[in-house]
Amino acid sequence: MRVLVVEDEEKVSRFIMRGLAAERFAVDAAPDGASGLEMATTYDYDVIILDLLLPGISGTEVLRRLRRTNTNVPVLVLTARDALTDKVENFEAGADDYLTKPFAFAELLVRVKALLRRGAVNRSSCLRVGDLELDRLSQTVKRAQQRIELTSKEYALLEYLMANSGRVLSRTMIVEHVWDQSFDGATNIVDVYVRHLRHKVDDLHEQKLIHTARGVGYSISDETQE
Ligand code: CA
Repeated sequence: MRVLVVEDEEKVSRFIMRGLAAERFAVDAAPDGASGLEMATTYDYDVIILDLLLPGISGTEVLRRLRRTNTNVPVLVLTARDALTDKVENFEAGADDYLTKPFAFAELLVRVKALLRRGAVNRSSCLRVGDLELDRLSQTVKRAQQRIELTSKEYALLEYLMANSGRVLSRTMIVEHVWDQSFDGATNIVDVYVRHLRHKVDDLHEQKLIHTARGVGYSISDETQE
């Protein structure tokens, strides 16, 4: 799961990022509205946390512009203000939820998870490829009813592959979705993680689900590949 935090107060931004990273999220930060909008429209986020009082373009304006192209991504609005008119204005602009500062991290986390769950219901909370199952709510993975233990990056990689089953994903797409922006290593990290995943998901089974598209990337499918 990848989250974007648009917040100009460094202390608040760091506080949120640290907490979410500990909960296995890949987190990017944007310090102002313009960069937030650019990142939100460039990358594929599962949730966006958006402060309202930002230098340059306001949070409400970021939201309005974002919703012209992306109506799906859940947005949690943060603000120090608690005026009813602000709330109404931001819900109208496309906010999914609202949190007034100061807040406890536990409350932020509950709201983020609720938004993900809502999104996951729309996108179906259980992904299946052949006898492989991934439950997004409990974050569990099973093959042939046997539980498979994955690290957080392995899980994120598998979820991304399964959400796009049958489709070849390039190493760059995978890095952009599974790792956060601070990752500047080579895309062959993907090969390393796919090897780990294959070991856990495919090695014990005759039917291989993870496929290599030579020179392009990887896909997951229960159809026999050439
Ligand atoms: Ca602010």
